[in-house]
Amino acid sequence: MRRHLLSVDDLTREDIDRILGLAESFAEVSGREIKKVPTLRGRTVVNLFYEASTRTSSSFELAAKRLSADLVSVKAQGSAVDKGESLKDTVQTLSAYDPAAIVFRSPHAGAAGLVARWTRASVINAGDGKREHPTQALLDLYTLRRRAGRLEGLNVWIVGDVLHSRVARSNILAFGRMGCRVTVCGPPTLIPRGVEALGCEVRTTLDDLGEADVVYALRMQHERMDGTYVPSLREYATRYGINGRRLGAAQLLMHPGPVNRGVELSGEVIDSPQALITDQVESGVVVRMAVLYELLAGGGGSPARSQSRDPGATEPQPA
Ligand code: ASP
Repeated sequence: MRRHLLSVDDLTREDIDRILGLAESFAEVSGREIKKVPTLRGRTVVNLFYEASTRTSSSFELAAKRLSADLVSVKAQGSAVDKGESLKDTVQTLSAYDPAAIVFRSPHAGAAGLVARWTRASVINAGDGKREHPTQALLDLYTLRRRAGRLEGLNVWIVGDVLHSRVARSNILAFGRMGCRVTVCGPPTLIPRGVEALGCEVRTTLDDLGEADVVYALRMQHERMDGTYVPSLREYATRYGINGRRLGAAQLLMHPGPVNRGVELSGEVIDSPQALITDQVESGVVVRMAVLYELLAGGGGSPARSQSRDPGATEPQPA
């Protein structure tokens, strides 16, 4: 695997398999009372978030802490960015701490690639505008494989605001790479032109939703809309909202969060046993531990095995 994780395109199928395997090992660690291993002791991880986040920032924080790294979290709001410091200057300032990794989120497509040019740290793209969110795709693969027992051959429908969704882009690539058949569906105004080139089919109605094994709903990304894309949210919910009538008993339901209840999903499906939404959040920690391990500790082999050879491995680390 490369030094940075900027896009799902940085990952081969073998890389993805290895990361999912590592995440399984870390799930075992997460089941322990003391959920900590010394793998990244003495290394520094910087979380640099220029955009709102609950799940991604908290799970990266927990992942770094459970690997015993020193963690610095910087949110643009309240930092020197508010005083007009440029991204390059901020990155160079934080790089003075010699971090092993910078986890970076930005509202601008391609910004993570720029950061990778300005630092010696490994850069992990935690969402860059509407472009990509590779660790979301990895945790979705992990969650789905755990529940369905396989990925190969699954029929996945990604429904909603595909146009503004970095999750859609990363997941089309990731599900496709692992042998799923991917269909995107939404109002024509919210389907990017040429999206088929990423390896998916396009539908503009839910008429054939019954063929899906997995329904992956997307949030309406109002913060990235510069105009009106649907007549009204009520109309959108009527035509594209996933509810108990539309979701078949054998279909699984995923959503990256945050959910707009009553818009893309009805309350009954969010709380149904078919929904994997909280499993996705839970998977975020172990998958992000696996990504940090893979990039910073060299990967290759099970961390649980390698740590059992390390006499300090099971020692809890001071908080
Ligand atoms: N949390 C995901 C993201 O950061 C999805 C969303 O915000 O709708 O892209």
